[in-house]
Amino acid sequence: MLSIDLSGKRALVAGVSDDAGFGFAIAKALAEAGATVCLGSWPPALGIFTKLLERGKIEDSLRLSDGRRMEFERIYPLDAAFDAMADVPADIKENKRYKEQGDFTINGLTDRLRADFGDGGLDIVVHSLANAPEVRSPLVDTSRQGYLAAVSVSAYSNIALVRSLAPLMREGGAFLSLSYMAGERVIPGYGGGMSSAKAALEADTRTLAFEAGRRWGVRVNAISAGPWASRAATAIGFIQTMISYTSANSPLPRCIEATDVGGTAAFLLSPLARAITGSVVYVDNGYHAMGMAVPEGSA
Ligand code: NAD
Repeated sequence: MLSIDLSGKRALVAGVSDDAGFGFAIAKALAEAGATVCLGSWPPALGIFTKLLERGKIEDSLRLSDGRRMEFERIYPLDAAFDAMADVPADIKENKRYKEQGDFTINGLTDRLRADFGDGGLDIVVHSLANAPEVRSPLVDTSRQGYLAAVSVSAYSNIALVRSLAPLMREGGAFLSLSYMAGERVIPGYGGGMSSAKAALEADTRTLAFEAGRRWGVRVNAISAGPWASRAATAIGFIQTMISYTSANSPLPRCIEATDVGGTAAFLLSPLARAITGSVVYVDNGYHAMGMAVPEGSA
């Protein structure tokens, strides 16, 4: 029987701070396939996430299909806006949510992974994070600072992760990030430079696949997912409208579920997909293929 087998592999999923987003669903799918999973979690949300885990509030979500409980080998603090501590402004360093976390930058994460597992201790890296401080502003009204912050956290961080973590990976290493159709088509209201960040993320997926493939032999792909009411998506303000519009106008008239993304991610990150790199794979019930809204009343 053909199955996704990730036993003996170690994954880092960056961008998990609750059980509601794509990162969690991907972590779970990887664990279901036998991988060992470490997380990178944003310091402002890390404390709440740790409490949820300690107090048993997400036990049901942690339960795997064979009855095992998903365990996280490590949960590292990670603020993907920063490559090195020298880049971090004093007010953030002093912030109570950051203060005790040590080096929470991408370099810090890399050092911790190397100290914990050595070179050749990693197989899979998932970038499942995004942030745009002005996401509710139309692009045309977005400040330079807001735009650059969106692209820095949501797109540049993926480049920095590939550069820093690819050298730690075993043969067959694979990277994956999460994109959205707003990088290609207009989604009114998806503002603050997030559409630009997704366009950059997708273009970078192709270039990184070439450069990192030649330099380190790793694969780099992205999933363009349909809308899902995660915490981040809810912050945009009209996620339910996006979900109902998309399901009403897709070839498969259903809402996507986070597990749809988790399953595709597990495949793309597995040896079964060893010839797939530089691809942006739609997990959207086919919505991307449509050129017109479905007239009301049609089948
Ligand atoms: P989510 O809230 O589960 O994930 C976003 C994560 O980003 C959170 O854990 C948050 O703490 C983290 N984060 C924010 N700023 C960060 C920073 N500076 N450093 C490190 N982490 C930071 O929401 P999600 O919707 O599952 O988002 C995951 C990815 O999926 C994002 O890239 C998002 O754009 C993408 N995506 C989401 C949808 C959707 O409809 N939900 C659709 C397509 C793509």
